[in-house]
Amino acid sequence: MATEQSPLLRNVRNDDIIEPLDMGESESRPRRFPFGLIAILLLVIAFALFVIFVPHNTPYEVEPWPTDLSPKIFSHLKALNEIAKNSTRNSRSITDGYNASAEYIISNLINKTNCDVKLQYFKAPIWEKEKEAELNVSFGSPDEIVAFQGGIDFWSMRDGGQAASLISQKVVEIQDPLENKTEWNVQGKVVLIQFGNFSVWDAAYKAEQNKASAVVFYNSPDQTKLSYVRVRIPEWKEGDPLMNIPVLAASNSLGRILKISSSINITTYTKVFVTETFNVICYLNNYGNKKNTIVLGAHLDSVPAGSGMVDNASGSATLLQILLTLEKQLYKPKNRLVFAWWGAEEIGLGGSRHFVRELIKSKEKKDIAMYLNFDMLGSPNYIPFVLQGSDAPPDVRYGSIKIQQTLESVFDNLRVPYDISEMLSGSDFLPFVQNGIPSGGLYTGSSEIKSINAQQAFGGIANAPLDPCYHQACDILDNVSEDAIRITSKTALEAIVNFGTMKNLRNYLYEE
Ligand SMILES: [Zn+2]
Repeated sequence: MATEQSPLLRNVRNDDIIEPLDMGESESRPRRFPFGLIAILLLVIAFALFVIFVPHNTPYEVEPWPTDLSPKIFSHLKALNEIAKNSTRNSRSITDGYNASAEYIISNLINKTNCDVKLQYFKAPIWEKEKEAELNVSFGSPDEIVAFQGGIDFWSMRDGGQAASLISQKVVEIQDPLENKTEWNVQGKVVLIQFGNFSVWDAAYKAEQNKASAVVFYNSPDQTKLSYVRVRIPEWKEGDPLMNIPVLAASNSLGRILKISSSINITTYTKVFVTETFNVICYLNNYGNKKNTIVLGAHLDSVPAGSGMVDNASGSATLLQILLTLEKQLYKPKNRLVFAWWGAEEIGLGGSRHFVRELIKSKEKKDIAMYLNFDMLGSPNYIPFVLQGSDAPPDVRYGSIKIQQTLESVFDNLRVPYDISEMLSGSDFLPFVQNGIPSGGLYTGSSEIKSINAQQAFGGIANAPLDPCYHQACDILDNVSEDAIRITSKTALEAIVNFGTMKNLRNYLYEE
């Protein structure tokens, strides 16, 4: 009933019961209150309010909930794909491509929703490589120079330093880089260290502090691939240092050769610097208990290599269309919903880490009941995955398992087969679970290979990656699976409405 839904109408009805008032002895006024007139007036007001409010609250004016969000999601994907095409290096990474993507989201939020839109700015470290480093080694006399091949024998490590040209440098091997008793005599020399059970940042930074000219980390005998590790403080934030001297990763054989070399030449073509970027956040403040806030997030940035249509325009567009659908349906959650499009996810979860840090600073973290993550929802050789709650730290494991179970039950109700994927690293749920907020999410796969069993259960291509274009230039619009988007968007919408409407969300997510 409409009158039960509107507190305004309820108040008017209560006001109907008016006690007779003592208006004093004045002759010019009637001693009795004009109930008839007031009653007519109230009827007129009630009718006016009925006309104004009731149509918006009845199911008749609102269209039925859509069964398939994918056509609208694809219209967002097309827009984001155009943005990528028109931006630097055809990417929606941290520069103009990201800003234009954010503008697209923001204009939708402002024009089509009741969001309180907030742009949350933060600093992010950037590392750029113009081309691969060059390295050659001298033996005995300077005339005997052997050149090694960049990209195969060695490469510039990610976040590893500024461009440099180092000629005839001596190599000094350090055995135990974090042992603090021995002085390092490495000024103006190249420090050689075998990868081991220590932080690459700590070792490289120690070399830089001791005025080394460069660092080469080389593989242990059992490591066959060059390292992808970043030379950066984990959870880097504004004010933290960056690596300035060149840091290279090398094969085990090159490492062994460097030990017996007389000198080494290194040229690198890299750049590290700090830039500013931002999260786009929609606070739906009109409805729902703020103390039980549900944060829903998708990272909006791509890798520099391409337009990032699966990773993660798919999650960003899905989240946007879910919000637009909820607003169009005049959905009124019991728990406040916050929609977030994270910046700089591909640069070490920059945006979500900043968001959680700010929650802690402003003491608003206690208001956040849970987080749902949407990263890669349209992988071409997809498996619909629910993130595994038992991977979360002990303090939020119970709630994260509950979130997983809810997502599973939505898949069950939709009769869609699904699988479970680890929730250990690699996306924006991490800062939430690490800071006491139960989390979960959906995912459709990246470089994992589809087994024959999985092919039988989910279709697609066996013995092939779930997304062969993961983090590559070919992650374009054609890479996105319409079926995957249809399935995951439907599941996400139902799950969000489930959680949004849940009466005792805290009781559900937190053990007594
Ligand atoms: Zn991603």
